Amino acid sequence: MDYSLVIAGGSVVTPRGIRIADMGVRSGKIVKLGAMGKRARQAARRVVDASGCFVMPGAIDPHVHLDLPIGPRMTTSDDFDTGTRAAVAGGVTTIIDYTTPKPGQGPLDAFRKRRALADPVVRCDYGLHNVLIGWDPKWKSDLAKLVKLGAPSVKMFMIYADRGWQADDGMLTEVMEQAKRLGMQVCVHAENDSLISHYTDKALGLAPKKRGGAFALSLARPAVCEEEAAARAIFLAKHTGAKLHLVHLSTAGAVESVRDARQQGLKVTAETCPQYLALDAKMLSGPQGHKFGSCPPLRTARHRRTLFRALDSGWIDVVGTDHCTFTSAQKNTWRGDFRKIPYGLPGLETMLRVTWTLGPARGKMSIERWVSIHTEGPAKTFGLWPQKGSLQMGTDADILVWDPSSSASINPKHMETHTDWNPYQGKRLKGIARHVFLRGMEVASESKCLRRPIRGRYVLRHK
Ligand SMILES: [Zn+2]
Repeated sequence: MDYSLVIAGGSVVTPRGIRIADMGVRSGKIVKLGAMGKRARQAARRVVDASGCFVMPGAIDPHVHLDLPIGPRMTTSDDFDTGTRAAVAGGVTTIIDYTTPKPGQGPLDAFRKRRALADPVVRCDYGLHNVLIGWDPKWKSDLAKLVKLGAPSVKMFMIYADRGWQADDGMLTEVMEQAKRLGMQVCVHAENDSLISHYTDKALGLAPKKRGGAFALSLARPAVCEEEAAARAIFLAKHTGAKLHLVHLSTAGAVESVRDARQQGLKVTAETCPQYLALDAKMLSGPQGHKFGSCPPLRTARHRRTLFRALDSGWIDVVGTDHCTFTSAQKNTWRGDFRKIPYGLPGLETMLRVTWTLGPARGKMSIERWVSIHTEGPAKTFGLWPQKGSLQMGTDADILVWDPSSSASINPKHMETHTDWNPYQGKRLKGIARHVFLRGMEVASESKCLRRPIRGRYVLRHK
């Protein structure tokens, strides 16, 4: 039987190392890995020459917010169409988005509504994490159903009392107990709301010059806010026995708590984001500083170095982008008040280029490790392994042909992400997604989403 696709002569990256090999695809699955005869190549419907490139699984971004309403008047500028175009253009073939229910809305209803929004338009495969806003004991049966529907994770916020989203310690503990019973994973946004209020009041008491415009965000949410909350979440996970995942870590202290927990054998995993590795809190100063407002905020070099080391050494196994895009006009609605900035940065389209440029391109991280934090790490952490994130026989042919020798400067005008600015604009980043295949179909090439009407699918995750 012939192959529908052969990727020939690339350097295939697996956890066991890098070797030059051919890859054969049939019916959307990988069916051959190794040297291939001339006849087999000639019989293939399509042959892609990958010489000089790395061949790896399509990347997985497990932390994405598309079409997310922020208050009554604003929604993130990337929806499931533009956001997943950005994903494939950047070499990402699977994302995990978050359902975000209204107060009182149950998780199963929120899940169904989210699927109705995403299913018709997604350009890559996707899964969902179940956000819990408040807790109703009636939702226990919802959670059991959601496990069967392939969404075995819940997410809670330790902050955002003002939006009505906060999970207090009692709710965290209750949900962790339920999650433990069902084998679900508990994802937590760890920041201390009361400490943020305290430091926000202090920042507001400063003269405007000392506050420094949007830079006040880092005064109002210092590292201790995350470090305390991460330690508390870990403490409760230890107490309940729940599987805990700490999203978007930005501080050295939180990483130390994760390391200690893992050394004790606790089921604790963590992720960080490209912006916490690449961008300095100083970006918040100056007239455009508010555009860099995110939650948690950007940090100093000391934190960035610790996060990078943790990724390299294996205390952190996952990179997610927390992709949450706003236009300049949306960002400008802050009007000088750091508390009113729409928090969030685009990241899907640039994730791999940012971490490649910081890591392997500078000889600071092995290529195998870099591939792992974007594929195997998230796949194993979120129940997608080995269907996604591995290049094993019979798994989905989600394949990225990564050209390490190209570089390009970032220009929002030429990007799929639906906004008019980018945190990396003007910067030259290395590496390019030369070809991106989703279940054997080409969905992007030369960092551009192809226009053909190819549809992504909802993907079932296991416990
Ligand atoms: Zn997020």
